[in-house]
Amino acid sequence: MDTAGVSVSVAGNFDKGDGSMTESGSLDAAGQAGTARYDVLVVGAGIVGLGVAYAAHRRGLRVLVCERASEVVGASVRNFGHLCFTPQSGRAYEFAQRSRELWRELAREADFWLQETGTWVVARTDEEFAVLREFARVRGPREVHTHTVASIESKVPVAEAVGGVLLPLDCQVNPREAASAVRAYLQRCGVEFRFRTAVGAVASGVAHTSRGDIRADQIVLATNHDIDLLMPDLAQQHGVLRCGLDMMRVTMGLRAPLTAPLLTGWSLLRYSGFADMAATVDLRARLHSEFPELAQLDLNEMYTQLPDGSVIVGDTHYRGESVASFQREIAFDSLLSLARERFDVTDVRVLERWQGMYASAANEFLQDIRPDTGIHVAVVTTGIGMSCGLGFAEHTVARIFADSTWAGASPVLREAAAVTTSRHPDHELTGSVQ
Ligand SMILES: Cc1cc2nc3c(=O)[nH]c(=O)nc-3n(C[C@H](O)[C@H](O)[C@H](O)COP(=O)(O)OP(=O)(O)OC[C@H]3O[C@@H](n4cnc5c(N)ncnc54)[C@H](O)[C@@H]3O)c2cc1C
Repeated sequence: MDTAGVSVSVAGNFDKGDGSMTESGSLDAAGQAGTARYDVLVVGAGIVGLGVAYAAHRRGLRVLVCERASEVVGASVRNFGHLCFTPQSGRAYEFAQRSRELWRELAREADFWLQETGTWVVARTDEEFAVLREFARVRGPREVHTHTVASIESKVPVAEAVGGVLLPLDCQVNPREAASAVRAYLQRCGVEFRFRTAVGAVASGVAHTSRGDIRADQIVLATNHDIDLLMPDLAQQHGVLRCGLDMMRVTMGLRAPLTAPLLTGWSLLRYSGFADMAATVDLRARLHSEFPELAQLDLNEMYTQLPDGSVIVGDTHYRGESVASFQREIAFDSLLSLARERFDVTDVRVLERWQGMYASAANEFLQDIRPDTGIHVAVVTTGIGMSCGLGFAEHTVARIFADSTWAGASPVLREAAAVTTSRHPDHELTGSVQ
């Protein structure tokens, strides 16, 4: 808080301690957002912004997070809650491994539901199983456990599997509560938040917001796809598009609970760790020629079960400078018919449908560090921000403060990342300073 006795702006929504929000606080005499100066201003209260705030707070810095919505509402609550640490490669793998430590630490400190039950990946054909076996050979038994068809059938409520793997180090959170729990925890730690406060423009040392100017030495833009509004030239330079996704939450009569997130053959084409395998080339050709309509939807058939028993079902992808406001029923029909087949059920009831959105580009991360202006950008430019975002955010803060060491860059991790990077030298960061 301001030490000069000036009324400091605390406009925004505040946690009353029981998780509910109330709007309170005061504007300064000019009705502006306040005269306080922060060490770090974070724009965006999604998981990346929260990760930046957490890392900066742990350095003893004075941190303010500015969010235009009244709560955490973006991609960080609209996802599967799948912390998919294992099938990443290169930098994403390093960020994912560090994120794993940070998620576990935050779940303990902030007291939210995090399951360490891994990820099931089931193969329905020999081609799919070939990719998984190759992946198991490359990664070894610490990261991948191979299961026979009998074992899969006894542990996962799917039909028609030929085998599969468990990725035991992966985790799951409830996306409806995890980021909000982190936000509430950071607030208790002294990180300040201003909700319903949109940043319209930034200049060195100042953000111009819908509630007046906010001053900060370092400003980090963690706005996800909206980086194309705040920094249109940078977004264009890095080919950032918007990616829309169709999602659903359903109930269905599974023969047993889905104890961990479930990935399928379609997922093997998507996550860079799987996509790097030689056997994936054949699988891609086969899935695309056999199911052209599903390939057209750019589908990733996957499922996570929430603690209340309902199942998140998704997803499809469509990209552009803007994405269609209207979701096509054919996407939902396809996802539902795949779910019926996958679990051999008929009674699928849709509880909710929604559209998610994230930034999409050829590289997986846009990290732009500008020591000259103090304005920095941290955006995950593909759909792995829950898995990698916390580590990426911490790495961003380390670079802003010119740390030569970053907690995630242990020699063991570097070695593992080097193995996973061998076929994917281009899975790198983009941005001004490497
Ligand atoms: C449907 C879907 C499923 C996904 N599933 C998974 C998954 O299972 N596992 C996984 O690892 N990843 C998943 N992802 C990706 C992951 O959710 C995202 O990468 C991650 O949440 C991005 O976090 P973020 O903080 O960058 O963005 P967001 O959570 O979108 O937060 C950005 C925030 O910035 C705010 N903001 C923007 N502009 C301004 C402004 N000018 N002023 C103030 N505030 C502003 C927005 O209101 C928003 O709250 C999924 C994404 C989607 C959409």
